[in-house]
Amino acid sequence: GNGEISTPKRTKEIIQRYGFKFKKSLGQNFLIDQNILDKIVDAAGLTEVSGALEIGPGIGALTERLAMAAGHVTAVEIDRRLIPILRDVLAPYPHVKVRNDDVLQVNLQELFAEDFATVDKVSVVANLPYYVTTPILMKLLEEKLPLENIVVMIQKEVAERMAASPGGKEYGSLSIAVQYYSEPELVCIVPRTVFIPEPNVESAVIRLKVRDVPPVQVADEKHFFEVVQACFTQRRKTIANNLKARYFPNEGRERLELLLAEAGIEPVRRGETLSLQEYATLSDVLLAAGI
Ligand code: SAM
Repeated sequence: GNGEISTPKRTKEIIQRYGFKFKKSLGQNFLIDQNILDKIVDAAGLTEVSGALEIGPGIGALTERLAMAAGHVTAVEIDRRLIPILRDVLAPYPHVKVRNDDVLQVNLQELFAEDFATVDKVSVVANLPYYVTTPILMKLLEEKLPLENIVVMIQKEVAERMAASPGGKEYGSLSIAVQYYSEPELVCIVPRTVFIPEPNVESAVIRLKVRDVPPVQVADEKHFFEVVQACFTQRRKTIANNLKARYFPNEGRERLELLLAEAGIEPVRRGETLSLQEYATLSDVLLAAGI
């Protein structure tokens, strides 16, 4: 292969030859920019002993680059119409496997065991369909797959929320969930013009370096994320008001205030000001009190 599926000319040729019609509902915006593709692949740090899992290969622009950088590539594409195209354009790369599946339905543990047994480490690299970015990323992170990096093109606002620090208006339960499992880093901002068709929003490439151990220890992860959710139920409300509504609807504030004091958290603070460590402490204090 010569690495040029992604030029605008070749992309248009492929689309015409196969009579392909874009489906907006599947988030189909194909990349036609060599520099952006280089940046995505470089950010993943792949070598011949790495595996790459691509979600939504489209007509194979990124897949081809991954094939040149990694020892094995599996690409999961939901749109049946793209499968024959992918088989043709990726024919020069025998270490690429295309699967016709919805990534949200796939058993990823099984996929990893079947496809990545021969590589040392695996990264997810993808230009994600924007309508399902968060569910896909949460599935990848929550299943605790043996992943090194997740390098993805996503909507710019979502990338900023994932990487946000406490105190700002972008910081929320998504920031906390992503940062619990990974270290996010914004790689670059991407204009609409590098896709056909052009999406309605600006994009960004983000790298999530998957953690071996979480940055904070909690007695119960599920409870921890529930407490985080509760504290952001109404963003403008104080932590005490949100927690009261969720956990103490039918009692006074005394017990709640004692527990917050035990956790070292002022009741008038808002959810967006608490660090991961403070949420961890709060969750453990509530849990120990039977809440
Ligand atoms: N990787 C290609 C590129 O960069 O040019 C295409 C990226 S396009 C933004 C997203 C791709 O994801 C489309 O090919 C779409 O059909 C596919 N897709 C959408 N939902 C999916 C799902 N649930 N599972 C797998 N693929 C999906």
